[in-house]
Amino acid sequence: MIDQRNINSPIHQRLAARDSVALSKGYHSPQLNVRVRLNTNESPLPPPQGWFEGFLAAQDQISWHRYPDREAKELRAAIAKHEGVEPTQVFAANGSNEVLQCLMLAFGGPGRSALVFEPTYALHSHIARLTATEVIAVQRVQDFGIDLGYASTMLVEHRPAVTFLCSPNNPTGTVDAPELIQALLDIVADLPGLLLMDEAYGQFAPYSAISLIEEARPLAVARTYSKTWSMAAARLGYLIAPAWVICELEKVALPYHLDSVKQIAGRLALQYQVEMAERVGELVAERERIAAELAKLAVQQWPSGANFILFRPNNGDGQGVWNGLLERSVLVRNCASWPYLAGCLRVTVGTPVENDVFLSALSEVLQ
Ligand SMILES: *Cc1c(COP(=O)(O)O)cnc(C)c1O
Repeated sequence: MIDQRNINSPIHQRLAARDSVALSKGYHSPQLNVRVRLNTNESPLPPPQGWFEGFLAAQDQISWHRYPDREAKELRAAIAKHEGVEPTQVFAANGSNEVLQCLMLAFGGPGRSALVFEPTYALHSHIARLTATEVIAVQRVQDFGIDLGYASTMLVEHRPAVTFLCSPNNPTGTVDAPELIQALLDIVADLPGLLLMDEAYGQFAPYSAISLIEEARPLAVARTYSKTWSMAAARLGYLIAPAWVICELEKVALPYHLDSVKQIAGRLALQYQVEMAERVGELVAERERIAAELAKLAVQQWPSGANFILFRPNNGDGQGVWNGLLERSVLVRNCASWPYLAGCLRVTVGTPVENDVFLSALSEVLQ
C-alpha cells in the first residue's frame, strides 16, 4: 500500500549540494548575438570542404543500434600516429575539459591537492574543486612568467598530486621555456606527482612538451580539437601520457563516453594537417598584425604564442571598453574581474575582416 501521507508531505528541508559545488559560481562565458565573435578562441573558419564530404560518407556506416567502440581504437591509433606516440599513450574524451576531469577523478580527490599558476585557465582550478581536490594557487610573476625558485618552494611545501601548466597560457598567451618545463618535471617526479601540460594552443607555439613524453616521466599533455582543428562543436580532446596514466583514466571515464559520430569526425580531421598548418600560419600572421596595430593604440599588451592577445586599456577601464566594443557588435572576453587581470580584455584572432572590424571599433572606443 502506498502511504498517501508521504506522497503529500511538504519538503521541509532541501538537500544542499556538496560545499565544493554549492559554493562554486560555475563557469561562465556569455554567448551573445553579435556580428564579430572574438571571445572564445575558436577557429574563425569551419573544417575544410574535404572533411565534410568524408564525414558524410563515413557516417553512413554507423551502426546506430549498437554502442560505439568503447576504446575508440581507430581514433586513438590516428591520434597516436599524428603525435608520434603509442596508441596506449592516448586517451580521448569529450573535449579536453573531460580529459582533465577524468585526470582529476583518477589522481585528485579528497586529501590531495592540485597546484595552478594564476592567472591561468579557470577550468583547471574549477575542475579540481569539483573533484574535491584542494587548490594551491601560485601567483605568476610580472609579465605572467613562472619563477622557478618560488615554484619549487611551493611544490616541495604542498606536494600537489597534479601540477597544472598551460603553454601557451590562457588568457595571457605566455609560452613556457623548455628548460622551465624540464626543471618542474624533475621536481614533480620526486614528490611524487603528475605534471599536466595543457596545450590547447600548442600548434600556435614554437615548442610542444609532447616530445618529452616517456613511460618513466610523470608528464601528461592535453590537446583539443576545439581550436586548431575547427571542431569546437564536436567536443573532442585528448591526453598524451604514459600508458600507466591512461589505464587509470579509462577506469573513471563513463562507458561508451565517446559517441561514434565524434570518433569518425576526429579521425577524419587528422587527414587535413596540411590545411590546418596553413591556417595556423595565417592566424599567427594576423596575430602579429593585430599586435602591431594595438601597439599604436592606448593599450598595454602581452606577447602571445596563441590565437588570442591579452591587452589592457591604459585608462584602466576594461569594462567600459568591453561595453563600447559590444555596442559596435564586437564581442571579446572580459577578464577585468579575474584575479591579477584587473582591467584586462582578451581578443581572439579572427579572419582578417573580423580583425579589422575589431581594430577600428577599439580605436573608436578608446578615442
Ligand atoms: C579552449 C581551451 C581548452 C579546450 O577545452 P575543450 O574542452 O577541449 O573545448 C582547454 N584548455 C584551455 C587552456 C583552453 O583555452
